[in-house]
Amino acid sequence: MTQPTDRSGTLDLSRRTLIKGAGAMLSLSALASAARAQSGGKTWDLIIIGGGTAGLPAAIHAAQRGVRVLIIEQAAQLGGTLHLSTGQIAAAGTVFQAREGISDSPQAHYDDAMRINDNTSDPQMLRLWTQHGGATINWLAEHGFETAPNMPVAGGGHEPYQTRRYLWGPEDGRSILRVLMQLVTPHIEAGRIDVMMETGAVELIQNAQGRVTGVVVEDAAGQRRDVSGAKVLLAAGGCAANPRMFEDLHGVPLYCQAAYAHSQGVGLMLGLGAGGHLHGGDKYLGLFGMVMADAWVPAALDVGLTLNPLRRKPWELYVNQRGERFVREDLEGVHHRETALDKQPGHRFWVIFDERTLAEAPSLVSSWSTQQLRDAFESHPMFASAPTVASLAARVGIHPLNLQRTVAEYNRARERNDADALGREHRPVSLDSGPYYAIQSQGWTLVSFAGLVVDEQLRVLRSSGEAIPGLYAAGEILGAGATSGKGYVGGALVTPAMTFGKLLGERLSF
Ligand SMILES: Cc1cc2nc3c(=O)[nH]c(=O)nc-3n(C[C@H](O)[C@H](O)[C@H](O)COP(=O)(O)OP(=O)(O)OC[C@H]3O[C@@H](n4cnc5c(N)ncnc54)[C@H](O)[C@@H]3O)c2cc1C
Repeated sequence: MTQPTDRSGTLDLSRRTLIKGAGAMLSLSALASAARAQSGGKTWDLIIIGGGTAGLPAAIHAAQRGVRVLIIEQAAQLGGTLHLSTGQIAAAGTVFQAREGISDSPQAHYDDAMRINDNTSDPQMLRLWTQHGGATINWLAEHGFETAPNMPVAGGGHEPYQTRRYLWGPEDGRSILRVLMQLVTPHIEAGRIDVMMETGAVELIQNAQGRVTGVVVEDAAGQRRDVSGAKVLLAAGGCAANPRMFEDLHGVPLYCQAAYAHSQGVGLMLGLGAGGHLHGGDKYLGLFGMVMADAWVPAALDVGLTLNPLRRKPWELYVNQRGERFVREDLEGVHHRETALDKQPGHRFWVIFDERTLAEAPSLVSSWSTQQLRDAFESHPMFASAPTVASLAARVGIHPLNLQRTVAEYNRARERNDADALGREHRPVSLDSGPYYAIQSQGWTLVSFAGLVVDEQLRVLRSSGEAIPGLYAAGEILGAGATSGKGYVGGALVTPAMTFGKLLGERLSF
């Protein structure tokens, strides 16, 4: 779940492309099938709301068993967040581990994930992912998925695993999407899967006993109709593109816009409307080290700072709004920084340094030269400089006396060779040569942690614990907190989304 990559090569599965037909994976006959589906009168075994990461594997596996499937998709393209996602996935027992001679087990993966996030995953959901995730990745591999070079690895941008079980394709999430589209397209062309594109689910239909029997959909022209099905799968993603809902469910503002635009949380509302309930908003955790384009939330992600000591040892201090240090800057690992930042006002901090550091240290932005970094202080709203520590603090809104004290204490301990207050060992220079610099970094996320409560069969549950008949859910709609916990466990969203969709497609009985 690292930052978004360059989108210039985004897989174009839009309707315009489909109509042009130029090698499109979802063809004209699929649109014809979609049109048939909209002609009414037909009922389906399984209606899938959302043709994305979880919805496509569910559709493919169900159609393989002869189940009549309808996908309702709000966007003009199938694939959902896989168009943006880094697509990093993880599981034990994959062919990619086997070819490297790596021994691993679902139990080891389970234990490692719980170690990373301090035992905060939902045990049932983590168990389901770790037990079945290997089969999902092997299924992708069987159908042509290949990894980027030198995979699997133990870690990337998140806290590393203790075993190499983490991998991704050369084109990030689009490497996975290619395989899924190649598998789903023949079913669509053959009419085994109907698709309603640019059509949103707006309500679930329930009978007097509360069983979900269909969906009210609305097309791009605003036309509403009812579609009926024996079972409905909510696979409409999370709410990380909906600032208001995100804040309501997590008690934290959505600091940045990085999620798929259709992650508006409509599926969560549909689940609630049918009697379901939510949990996991308290598992919110922000990612560390990103600078936003400006201070208006939700802001655009702008530039990443290299704050991981494995990549660049820190010369700077990190301080919160009170002007206090809050984390040992040179301590390796990622999770401890994210949890420390979680306790800071506004989930933000400033990287503080002086002129000598700017001139002599490796650039804080790996893709920028020192001169580019220096130039940013002239133009970027999150970069500030001032002649003294106190004036810098006043300029960016940090408590000036505290910041002066923090910098002085750090310098004094370093110069006397006393132990650092937070145990830091890498102290190459004192911060005593003005001008002084501050870069504001904001905790951020691209997923929502709150989600619908389900049981191990992925049936949506009422708060009484009773399952809502006919209603299932998979993907980020379950909340990142279910599998990733209060932490970022590598592959904890894409792998379970695909795995849970696949399991439902394989197992649901009709
Ligand atoms: C930039 C980025 C990078 C990420 N990187 C990683 C990573 O490396 N590893 C990882 O594990 N996770 C990662 N994640 C998270 C992960 O990609 C998502 O959690 C996951 O793909 C979501 O899958 P999903 O099936 O729940 O939703 P989606 O794949 O988003 O599918 C939901 C679909 O439902 C549709 N929809 C929405 N509302 C409606 C409606 N009312 N009616 C009909 N259709 C609707 C949407 O258009 C969409 O197609 C990343 C996320 C982002 C944004």
